Amino acid sequence: MTLEEIKTIGVVGAGTMGQGIAQICALAGYKTILFDINAQVLEKAQQTTTENLAKGIARGKLTEADKQTTLGNLSFTGDTLQLSCDVIIEAVVERLEVKQSIFKELAAINSPQTILASNTSSIPITRIAGAVPHPERVVGMHFFNPAPIMKLVEVISGAATSPQVKNTIQQLARKLGKTPVMAKDSPGFIVNRVARHYYVEALKLLEEGVADVATIDKLLQASGFKMGPFELMDLIGVDTNYSVTTAMFEAFHYDPKFRPSRIQQQKVDAGHHGRKSGKGFYNYE
Ligand code: NAD
Repeated sequence: MTLEEIKTIGVVGAGTMGQGIAQICALAGYKTILFDINAQVLEKAQQTTTENLAKGIARGKLTEADKQTTLGNLSFTGDTLQLSCDVIIEAVVERLEVKQSIFKELAAINSPQTILASNTSSIPITRIAGAVPHPERVVGMHFFNPAPIMKLVEVISGAATSPQVKNTIQQLARKLGKTPVMAKDSPGFIVNRVARHYYVEALKLLEEGVADVATIDKLLQASGFKMGPFELMDLIGVDTNYSVTTAMFEAFHYDPKFRPSRIQQQKVDAGHHGRKSGKGFYNYE
């Protein structure tokens, strides 16, 4: 599949990341189909897209024509059979078996040339591709949050990924206005491997009672970070952040430096998933 051959992009998972990824694909002129198993999430994604476009216009970043292009190219579905596409970008929960099962299901209804890209934050692409027919078309395309704004995209080749697929995805990232950077297929790739300690260490401070959430956030902001670790976890999704740490802890053979926090696990168990659920380390209700 070459860049020129790409006409239709499917995005699987319409949550925090999938919504933004679909928005930029549609804005770049691709027929984009956004899929989720949850009808409420799809509805919210539609609403968020409209709001984002309005904000973009108000800030002078987008035009009315951009809005019409995006809305004209974007469709929403709960039916996998509609995902007959040239590229599929998966942005569902950070669980290996879920990602593999989606790719297997989509492989059965698409040609072997369809590129299957994963937005995973931490799971090695080689592991995802291991269960998928034609693993040469499986690749990592890791966007950052919020996807319409952040320029960086990590592109990851698994052991079987073909050089042509990697090249096409790098070109596609540029076409979407992003800056692709190649990363090795190692758990957490580059950014999440380093960033993990920002969250894990902050949670340890909290567990040990060294300081409270707001103090830790304020001090790290004052030292130059754009966001403190707790407000950032609330933006990312406390559940997603916890799943990423758990996946990396396992992938690094239970290296204690990646040990997930019980405080964070409790937040997940309570449904306090951050901004998206109205409550996380802070209250947004
Ligand atoms: P999210 O929880 O906001 O959304 C995930 C969506 O996947 C949900 O809407 C859920 O209904 C849907 N889903 C679950 N199982 C599904 C299935 N079988 N078929 C279709 N949809 C299904 O999660 P998110 O934060 O958008 O994260 C998605 C992926 O992106 C994860 O792999 C995560 O590691 C990665 N990621 C997240 C961030 C971030 O800041 N949140 C940044 C970069 C990458």
